[in-house]
Amino acid sequence: MSAPTPPSSPRIRSARGSLVVAIDGPAASGKSSTAQWVAQRLGFRHVDSGALYRAATAVAIARAGEEFDEATVLSGLDEISLRPAQHSFMPIWKRGEMEELIRAPEVTRNVSRVAQMEGVRKWVNVHVREAAQGRDVVVDGRDIGTVVFPDADLKVFLIADPWERARRRLTQRHGRGPTDAEIADETERLVQRDAKDATQTVQAKDAILIDTTYLTQAEQVERIVSLARVFRDDASADGSGERG
Ligand code: C5P
Repeated sequence: MSAPTPPSSPRIRSARGSLVVAIDGPAASGKSSTAQWVAQRLGFRHVDSGALYRAATAVAIARAGEEFDEATVLSGLDEISLRPAQHSFMPIWKRGEMEELIRAPEVTRNVSRVAQMEGVRKWVNVHVREAAQGRDVVVDGRDIGTVVFPDADLKVFLIADPWERARRRLTQRHGRGPTDAEIADETERLVQRDAKDATQTVQAKDAILIDTTYLTQAEQVERIVSLARVFRDDASADGSGERG
């Protein structure tokens, strides 16, 4: 029989003391937006590990252009910090938020090269683990369920057909339905990035695979939230349910 849950802590807790939901998958599989939404539904914080790889890349480009070398990347890392926001963490550089900077096409073009650098991977993992310290988090990336949190409470691996991933990405970017030619170009870029990221994009053995090709975002979120509820003692809780 399991021990009764203390009244002050309505959720079942892992040995870590807080819950980690790991969401991994290839580029544009909807990880970040899904993770953000899941985090809001559960009242958890969202940690986007890809944003840190992007931040490292953006700072290197700002310092040395796209021809930057590894030393430039590594020496720029100290200038980046993570600031907690209501439901997430955002990378900060020179006291400014980096959201626009890290989504620039030159960053997307170069980020896979930066993500191969061992020093950068260590730096990202330290920040991500620190962000998760003592709080419930939804973390998204490529290797969260295998390397960063191999003991995550819930691991999800999201996949989707490349054409559909490209279509969604372009619709989000341009706010309109893309043409077939635009989708074909974007599909090629995505497939190339998948190949460059293949080493670290690994589905953990205990991850739940969700193919989102024919799911709406609301459906994806609902599935993950339902899975996460398994780790919450809703039945015996005080009825507080989800926060946020
Ligand atoms: O998720 P997003 O596309 O923003 O990630 C940007 C890049 O960061 C990926 O293409 C990959 O090279 C790298 N990345 C990684 N490991 C992670 C998250 C992202 O290598 N956990």
